[in-house]
Amino acid sequence: MSEILRVDQVTKTYGKKGEKQYQALKGISFAIEQGEFVGIMGASGSGKTTLLNILSTLDKPTSGHVLVNKQDITALKNNQMADFRGKEIGFIFQDFNLLDNLTNRENIALPLSLQGVKAKDIDGKSMAIAKRLGIESILDKYPAEISGGQKQRVASARALVHNPAILYGDEPTGALDSQSATELLKTMADLNKNDQVSILMVTHDPYSASYAQRILFIKDGKIGKEIKKENKTREEFYQDIIAELGRR
Ligand code: ADP
Ligand code: MG
Repeated sequence: MSEILRVDQVTKTYGKKGEKQYQALKGISFAIEQGEFVGIMGASGSGKTTLLNILSTLDKPTSGHVLVNKQDITALKNNQMADFRGKEIGFIFQDFNLLDNLTNRENIALPLSLQGVKAKDIDGKSMAIAKRLGIESILDKYPAEISGGQKQRVASARALVHNPAILYGDEPTGALDSQSATELLKTMADLNKNDQVSILMVTHDPYSASYAQRILFIKDGKIGKEIKKENKTREEFYQDIIAELGRR
């Protein structure tokens, strides 16, 4: 097994020196192996989004290091970061972040278009991931013409079309009804198991978290406990998560 992500003593303080400052992350360290599905749980304001923004190079840590495939991304210059993000990171958000004036097909192809991939390769790759996610029939529609569950599938296809090193999700089921949420979580678990997609998903929802193999609990900018699914069923793991949340 090789390590896909290493987070080493990451801190983040918002606000300039001399102004009102707030330390949102207080020394976060953990690692994720290639092919793992890890959840991060924590109450609102605990630092989850701050952490994901740093891991995906949308923001920089105040101190500490983030290594993706052994490469220290905190050492990259801004233009290198954008390039790295475009190639190695997939991201799905609570509110989908699809572009309304592009068709679903164009939305999915966007990461490849931005990287300058040839048109005929773009079509093949976009179609392959669309099939994998079961959305071939809606590719020529616009985001406004499809359901929330379908929108998150289009967003997932866009996040995976360029075969990133890791898929990040920030509350990806947060805006979905329970049936669409379950379908998305099953798809994520399936992509993880059968296509070895490495996933880091932030959520405050114990049901969503129960689809991961391991959960890190974040509180006040620090990682406290970690629990693992191991040989348990998803239902048993869900009960473990509920019990752990009850202890906090
Ligand atoms: P979560 O995603 O777990 O709800 P966040 O990472 O969004 O938490 O926020 C963690 C803490 O940092 C919160 O107290 C929040 O108010 C603060 N925070 C987040 N973004 C900023 C910012 N841009 N400037 C100042 N404080 C921020
Ligand atoms: Mg958040």
